[in-house]
Amino acid sequence: MFSDHAQVKGHLNPHDWVSEISWWASKLKPKTIHLFGGEPLMNPWIEDWIRLVALKFKRSINIQTNGILIPKLAHGVLKNLINRKVRISISKHSNDPEYLAKIEESISILRSAIDYRDENKISDTETVYHGTSSFSVVDWTRRPWVAHYDGWGDKIKPGNAWDSDKFTKSHYNCEAKTYIQLYKGSLWKCPTMAVLGESLEQIGANLENWKPWLDYKPLTIDSDDDTIQSWLEAQRKPERVCNMCFGEPRPIEQHFTKIKEIKNV
Ligand code: SF4
Repeated sequence: MFSDHAQVKGHLNPHDWVSEISWWASKLKPKTIHLFGGEPLMNPWIEDWIRLVALKFKRSINIQTNGILIPKLAHGVLKNLINRKVRISISKHSNDPEYLAKIEESISILRSAIDYRDENKISDTETVYHGTSSFSVVDWTRRPWVAHYDGWGDKIKPGNAWDSDKFTKSHYNCEAKTYIQLYKGSLWKCPTMAVLGESLEQIGANLENWKPWLDYKPLTIDSDDDTIQSWLEAQRKPERVCNMCFGEPRPIEQHFTKIKEIKNV
């Protein structure tokens, strides 16, 4: 959810993935389902994705968004999301005034769409707005954040060496570890790992630095029940791939860089 997946180009069409979604829905009963991106509201088939996933998994859907595109959503689209009880969560990743103005506009539009009644400050960094439905705003500029890479462009490299013993600490501090990612028909340890190969290619990274990570194999739909069970148990724990991420939460400046790039979308 929190990696810079904007580097991965193109939008997945849900009609191409119906059999894979159906297969996983017959095997898994996730407690919650979150649609991530990059930015999920950029996907032209976002409503079809929600319909398909809700129908197959029989769960309500959460959308994690940076909030920028909410004012640009057609009124009918937003209304449909609200009517379907899709839970929208705005992840605030910057204190840039231009960005904050966009977020305020989005909050105002959402409040009106849900016939806002009251709000509940869950913590210093999270507020839930209630009405006929609810949405939330999470301030990630004031939450610990484990960076998933070191550097940028062709200088990007893993946070730690593959054989470092820091992976347990990275995993301990990781905000994304509970989000198993279903991507292109397979299950991945986390959103970051799901799009790592595509992100690195887009960025122009030196792939030699990433070899062990690029050898990671996701869980595919031909897996038997025992294999699925043991994969799920391993997913909950720190694994060597977590050496990609830093052991300690990193400074807030990370957020500013990313949002400035997203704003140009
Ligand atoms: S590789 Fe591990 S530490 Fe890094 S984002 Fe994924 S689960 Fe978290």
